Amino acid sequence: MARESLRIDNARYILTLDQERRIIRDGSILVEDGRIRRVGKAAELAGGHVDRVIDARRLLVTPGFMNGHMHISYAHPVRGIFPEEMASPLNHVFNLQAAMTEEEEYHASLLGIVELLKSGTVCFVDPGSTKFPDACLQAYEDSGIRVIMGECVTDIQAPWNLPKHATGEAVRRTAAFIDKWNGRLDGRLTAWAMPFSPETCTAELLSELKKVVDERRTMLTLHHNSGAQQRKDYQARHGRRPTEYLESLGVVGPNVLLAHVLGIDDAEIDCIARTRTAVAMCPITAAKGGRGVPEHGRMPELLAKGVKIALGADSPNNCNHLDMVRVMNMAAIQYKDARQDTRQIPAEAALEMATLSGAEALGLGDQLGSIEVGKKADFVLFDTERPEWQAMWNPVSNLVYNADGRSVHTVIVDGRVVVDAYRQSFVDEPKLFAKVQEIGEQLQARTGITFPRSRWPIV
Ligand SMILES: [Zn+2]
Repeated sequence: MARESLRIDNARYILTLDQERRIIRDGSILVEDGRIRRVGKAAELAGGHVDRVIDARRLLVTPGFMNGHMHISYAHPVRGIFPEEMASPLNHVFNLQAAMTEEEEYHASLLGIVELLKSGTVCFVDPGSTKFPDACLQAYEDSGIRVIMGECVTDIQAPWNLPKHATGEAVRRTAAFIDKWNGRLDGRLTAWAMPFSPETCTAELLSELKKVVDERRTMLTLHHNSGAQQRKDYQARHGRRPTEYLESLGVVGPNVLLAHVLGIDDAEIDCIARTRTAVAMCPITAAKGGRGVPEHGRMPELLAKGVKIALGADSPNNCNHLDMVRVMNMAAIQYKDARQDTRQIPAEAALEMATLSGAEALGLGDQLGSIEVGKKADFVLFDTERPEWQAMWNPVSNLVYNADGRSVHTVIVDGRVVVDAYRQSFVDEPKLFAKVQEIGEQLQARTGITFPRSRWPIV
């Protein structure tokens, strides 16, 4: 179906993320059939018929943001119920998730998508949280977002309530999931293999799943951390470090995305870089969860070795927001503090991870992540007529250090305007918010998983 042609006209700045990283002042972008046809100075692109012109004189344009690890599904209705001093709420997390009905998951996902799109995220990886993809498809379709999904599989009993299958069954389910879903919604939906972690899956399952994604030219993601204790355990059991163990199974490479990767040592960084394995890092989860970024965070070393890194917001009970601008901000500031060195993770590097490198990490770098002729038309238009954007000298610095997702004015995915001057039109927000609050109450009542709401009296 032909899509309307569009000109983003006379933007205050366009952060192209092209090869030269050009920042075009007074720039325009011409979009036809969902693709970028021209990018340049407004004067060069003036005139000619288009279906719609967006006056971007006060707007700053970036590529759409990629969120490389974002558990949608259970969390929005119960966001913030866990006391912050709780060491690990995972047990409760998976019990709540298991208790979700189809209708509840649909509404919770829809709210997650509203939050994602309105803060500029155009594509997210849900690492296997969604239980009812058939029901949630409607939310992906109506909203116009891109989604990367899969079925979470394990074949070793986890300490939590995770879905567990016999090895062969887990492989068959994954293959069937990918065959059913990959490429749907005009290619906006991508399906991957999603084993939970190396600790909850046998070697056989992991290597079989890798074959499934190699054959289908898609990807695999899993949770992966290391650390002194983990290395000791893996050394004793497998004679290798955790990351080297994955390499020994063949579960590395450009179509593997390792999530979190805290605690990896130099040899594991070498292994990731050498095999061109991609990673997704969640800076706010690491900070809020007290994960010890000074000791365990290795983002600068991974970047120095050319590893493709996507940023993630993880779960709304970890991060807890889904605002990629705030995630970029955390990525840029936390390593300066952790290393007591202001040269760590420049604003430009944070923006690259949220856009181009993020897209490359997700295997979508040839289509997304930068504003270049031929790529898909995914953009975020920020409103710079707001106090936090003043004064304007270095737009990348303003974006990463001053702004947040609330100044996202307009969002375009695949050439379609999905957030238009702060408004989306696929769902009635007040109704949805009330519904999700009600779901949260019902979920807590049904599962008995509930905590004192506040340290202070709510009167
Ligand atoms: Zn996760």
